[in-house]
Amino acid sequence: MNMHDSERLAGLLEEAGYRKSASGAAPDVVVFNTCAVRENADNRLYGNLGHLLPVKNSRPGMQIAVGGCLAQKDRAAITDRAPWVDVVFGTHNIGSLPALLERARIEQTAQVEIAESLERFPSVLPARRESPYSAWVAISVGCNNTCTFCIVPSLRGREEDRRPGDVLAEIRALVGDGVLEVTLLGQNVNSYGTAFGDRLAFGKLLRACGEIDGLERVRFTSPHPKDFTDDVIAAMAQTPNVMPQLHMPLQSGSSAVLRAMRRAYRRDSYLTILDKVRAAIPDAAITTDIIVGFPGETEQDFADTLDVVRRARFVGAFTFQYSIRPGTPAASMPGQVPADVVAERYGRLVALVDEIALAENQGLVGREVEVLVAAGEGRKDEATRRMSGRARDNRLVHFTPSVNTLSASTGTAGTGSGDLPRPGDVVVTTVTKAAPHYLIADGAPLAVRRTPGGDAWLARAAAAGAGPAGQSGLADAGRSGQPVLLGMPAAARPA
Ligand code: SF4
Repeated sequence: MNMHDSERLAGLLEEAGYRKSASGAAPDVVVFNTCAVRENADNRLYGNLGHLLPVKNSRPGMQIAVGGCLAQKDRAAITDRAPWVDVVFGTHNIGSLPALLERARIEQTAQVEIAESLERFPSVLPARRESPYSAWVAISVGCNNTCTFCIVPSLRGREEDRRPGDVLAEIRALVGDGVLEVTLLGQNVNSYGTAFGDRLAFGKLLRACGEIDGLERVRFTSPHPKDFTDDVIAAMAQTPNVMPQLHMPLQSGSSAVLRAMRRAYRRDSYLTILDKVRAAIPDAAITTDIIVGFPGETEQDFADTLDVVRRARFVGAFTFQYSIRPGTPAASMPGQVPADVVAERYGRLVALVDEIALAENQGLVGREVEVLVAAGEGRKDEATRRMSGRARDNRLVHFTPSVNTLSASTGTAGTGSGDLPRPGDVVVTTVTKAAPHYLIADGAPLAVRRTPGGDAWLARAAAAGAGPAGQSGLADAGRSGQPVLLGMPAAARPA
């Protein structure tokens, strides 16, 4: 959600006349879009602000803005602690950033604007989309749940749902611009529709996405197990462009810990949902989030988590060591688990997750995968002479493009034109090797399909002043999976 907010901030600034500053150049404006969910977010923010102070002192007129969850939480305390900050804006005030920068410049005094609730859905704001072939689409913001470890409800407010017609119109417009893949975004996508009185709205939305010509891949994040209903599973299974992938946050495999977390499902009901998903979508790749060391977690509770991990056969997990987040109910709970115990359990959990993910991935060796090529997914691509992208089930695939065997004109192997597939194109290849976090496909691709997404990527690359010849040199154009850079350096003063 924060990444998508960053796209909106970049779009707003561009519309106001700002330009992304060149790599290495000192920017005139630095924007921090903070996330209070991340560990040590405040330390990192104030550390970065401290580093910027001498830069700002040496550059008269330079401005610094701080937005996002931490700004919503700390408000004017940010300018008290770092008086060289020019603008503080809350999670509901994204649209005000250009005006606040301007006002701070004219009045020569810090501007702090924090609204308590959303006045308009941020999707009406412009966005500078980082990827021309894959896009986030917000369907809701805020959350009505009260998980005791989470700061989101107090900072993002209650859930606001966007009208389905608006969501679908945005997706159609994106597809018209070359986007092949959308990820529907919400803190709890399964409760989508609550605000306008349709509890089946999310399944209907998935099915409606299936009607959009040219939309090849639909994903969503994040669902909540308590709201994950059979109609959503049926919609996933029956809508061909909804991908066989599910990220289903578990958080803990102990029902006692789930109760303390105020997560309204239990280990058995969670596993029942996964059984239903796999019955309907046999190839579904399921990933999860798990927190280790929540207050009161005993060794038996942790063993229950390992047990669910074994049974669920996750192909990946975002794993977190619990640490106190000020302002959350869990921060003051008794039974805080010592850090060394948390770290030891965490090590065991990661080892098990990796072992299972490796075994699941090894089961795909020899199988064909369809890869949406992506820029920025493979850090070692240049050294290995591979390209990277995501399979339909969202697994990361590093593949050898076999430059001399592919044809740009026919999209088939073996005609010898030498053109590489572009980010945004689709490649079918065969898995030759597996690792816990990725697949390798080192044979010649079976097919390469030029797509409007690849065309859009090429057009953006050309506009950025790079030619298609050396594709590694174009990695910045349409880079996917990278943070949206809004500062240090990112934006320059309006022309
Ligand atoms: Fe936070 Fe729970 Fe809402 Fe997710 S469902 S945003 S963890 S309160």
